[in-house]
Amino acid sequence: MDIGSMYEYELESLVRDAGLPKFRAAQIYSWIHEKGVSGYEEMTNLPKTMREMLAEAWPLPELTPVRTLSSKDGDTTKYLFRLADGNVIECVRMEYHHGTSVCISSQVGCRMGCRFCASTLLGLSRNLTASEMLGQVYQINRMIQAEDPEKRVSNVVVMGTGEPLDNYDNLVRFVRILSSEKGLNISQRNITVSTCGLVPQIARLRDENLQITLAISLHAADDETRRRIMPVANRYTIAEILDACDSYFAVTGRRISFEYSLIEGENDSPETAEKLAGLLAGKNCHVNLIPVNPVKERGYRHTGEAGVRAFQKRLMDHGVTCTIRRQMGADIDAACGQLRKDYIDEVSEGVNT
Ligand code: SAH
Repeated sequence: MDIGSMYEYELESLVRDAGLPKFRAAQIYSWIHEKGVSGYEEMTNLPKTMREMLAEAWPLPELTPVRTLSSKDGDTTKYLFRLADGNVIECVRMEYHHGTSVCISSQVGCRMGCRFCASTLLGLSRNLTASEMLGQVYQINRMIQAEDPEKRVSNVVVMGTGEPLDNYDNLVRFVRILSSEKGLNISQRNITVSTCGLVPQIARLRDENLQITLAISLHAADDETRRRIMPVANRYTIAEILDACDSYFAVTGRRISFEYSLIEGENDSPETAEKLAGLLAGKNCHVNLIPVNPVKERGYRHTGEAGVRAFQKRLMDHGVTCTIRRQMGADIDAACGQLRKDYIDEVSEGVNT
C-alpha cells in the first residue's frame, strides 16, 4: 500500500520496520495529512538523507493540475489532475456562504452506466487509492490557504466521477483519514458519500460506525423508469434500497439525502412526484432536486424551472423536505465527468492527427 493511504498505526509499523524512531511516523503523518504537502522536500523537520530515502522507497501520490476552469461568477472551479500513471481525474471546488465544499472523484471513470452521466461514457479504468482521493482535498485546501490562511475546506462530497461504494475499502480509509484528528480533521458530519444504491455496501457502511451523510441517487419513483436510466436498477429495486436506507438511519441516526435529477418527459411528471412522495413521506430524509445537466453525448433535456418548482411543491405538500439544488457551474460543463471526457477526446484527437 502507498504511504499516503496508511493509517497512523500502519505508518508507525512501516517506520519501525525501517529502523526509524517512532516519532518520525507522527511527523510524516502530519506533513501528508494535516499540512497536505505533495513532496518529501517540504518535510523540513526530517533530515535530508531521510527525505531522499523516503522519496525513493515510498513515493507520495502525484496529482498534477493540468487544467482549471472557473465559472463566470467565480463560485465554482473545476480542476483536472493528472495521476502518476497518466490518468486524469476531475474535482470541483464550490464556494458557498457557509464555506468551501470540495467534490472529489472516487474512481477513474465509472462502470455504473447511468444514462445521463458523462463519467460513465468511457467505462471504468481503475479505482482511486485513498491517497489519490485525499490528495484532491489537500491540493484544494492548500490553494484556499494560500489565498487566506484562516480559511480551509469545510465540506467534502464524494460526488465526482466514480461510484464510491464500488471502491469500498479505499473509500472508508479515505473518510477515516480525512476526519482523523491528526489529519485535516474534517468532521464526518461534513462528509457526504453519494451512491447509485449498492445495497450490500450500504449495509456494510451502516456498521462502520461513521457519522457521514449518505446520499442516494434515486432519480426515479418506480423500478421500470429507474431501469431505463440507471442499469444498476436491474440489480437492486427501489424497495431494497429504501429498506437499506431505513436500516442505515436506524443504526447511525444520520438523515438520508436523496438526489433526484429531473429529466424532461422521463421522471418529472406530477404522477411521478406523487409516487415519490408516497415512497418517502414520513421518512427522516431530504430530497435534492437537480435539473439534469445536459450531456452532449446524451439526448436528455432538463425540466424547466416551473416544472421543477411544481415537482418540489408536490413533495412538500406531503411533508417531504426538499430543496432545489442551485445549478452551479453550468457554464463550465460541471456535469459529472464532462471536463475529463472533453480533455481525453482532445488529447486522443491530437494523437490521431
Ligand atoms: N456514483 C455516485 C456518485 C457520483 S455522481 C452516485 O451515483 O451517486 C453524483 C451525482 O450526480 C449523482 O446523483 C448522479 O446521479 C448525478 N449526475 C450525474 N450526471 C448528472 C447530470 N448530467 N445531471 C445531473 N446530475 C447528474
